[in-house]
Amino acid sequence: MIGSNISTFIGSGNPPSFDDVMMVPAYSEVRSRSQPDTSSVIAGINLNIPIISSPMDTVTGTEMAVSMANNGGLGIIHRFASKEDQASMMRSFLDESSPSALSRKLVPAIGVGNNEKDRLTYLLETFGMDISSIAIDVANGDSNYMADMISWVLKETMGKIPIIAGNVATGEAFIRLCNLGVSAVRVGIGGGSICKTRIMTGVGVPTLSSVIDCHNSKVKYGFNNVGIIADGGVRYPADFVKSLASGADAIMAGRIFAGTLESPGDIVSINGVKMKVYRGMASKEVQEDKRGGMRPGTCAEGVSTHIPLKGKAHYILNEFAGGLRSAMTYMNSLNLSSLRENAKFIRLTSSALDESHAFGTKK
Ligand code: IMP
Repeated sequence: MIGSNISTFIGSGNPPSFDDVMMVPAYSEVRSRSQPDTSSVIAGINLNIPIISSPMDTVTGTEMAVSMANNGGLGIIHRFASKEDQASMMRSFLDESSPSALSRKLVPAIGVGNNEKDRLTYLLETFGMDISSIAIDVANGDSNYMADMISWVLKETMGKIPIIAGNVATGEAFIRLCNLGVSAVRVGIGGGSICKTRIMTGVGVPTLSSVIDCHNSKVKYGFNNVGIIADGGVRYPADFVKSLASGADAIMAGRIFAGTLESPGDIVSINGVKMKVYRGMASKEVQEDKRGGMRPGTCAEGVSTHIPLKGKAHYILNEFAGGLRSAMTYMNSLNLSSLRENAKFIRLTSSALDESHAFGTKK
């Protein structure tokens, strides 16, 4: 039989990225694409389509969060605004999303450190238990400042609000966060389309390999209830499907939603083409906006680009859900755990290098 379980692809000394693998079709008894159940649970939140829009200031404000929630996904409201402005995005989200979608879906991002503790205190005073989950959002989630923040948040909320933490790239880091009591982990360092971390620092792991490693550790140490969110570098529905089949419970994405009508930012016309800005949160442009310039001794680890206007975000969600449903039909799978069991992978050519560049700037 051609193909093997994806867990064996780690430890080979040649960690795969999305373009290096493909799944082998299986004998299938699933007759229709309407049969598979694509739902998944992340940090206590039920997602009909396991896709989360990134907490970035050109991706998820009120409108994106509303659209994601109303269409079965989730949007995490970004933290690159004052606590008052973030609270007003959250208030509008509660006012504008449909009542049925409201349940347990209000998720703000926060950072680490004292200012961010102050931010969360304010958000908790304003929204209390209406907050479904708190996303602690930093570049290196495997750190003592992340550990300190997790303990503080758990204490402040008496452990009643699930935490999404990240990002990490390895199974070991994933287990450290699990032991600290988080409910879901964002997995992926350096794979984002607007990310320069790998070329500026030489640090990173192909996102798919990180997911496989985290999933192997999750199974080994029995953290079955901790969700894995594959974050960064998803370009096509295929990358989404490969992530889920490799152990992710959901994906997070920025670029696929940037340039939609719901993403924050003005529409600009460049050479007659309508565009919106999409920028990495560690880009020079963001540092200039938020801090008045780069801090001495630092370098930008993100880029800023323009994305042609795409229409509404739910078309993208539906297209990705369509790819997943079709893959589940090929893979004889009625739910995501059976997709994970049934998926047999083969290795293709190595495209890791290409994926490691900031391909978000390519038009
Ligand atoms: P994309 O979907 O490939 O565009 O990747 C989006 C992800 O990139 C986000 O969810 C973050 O994890 C990550 N990210 C956001 N801004 C930056 C940055 O400036 N540098 C590196 N990674 C970033």
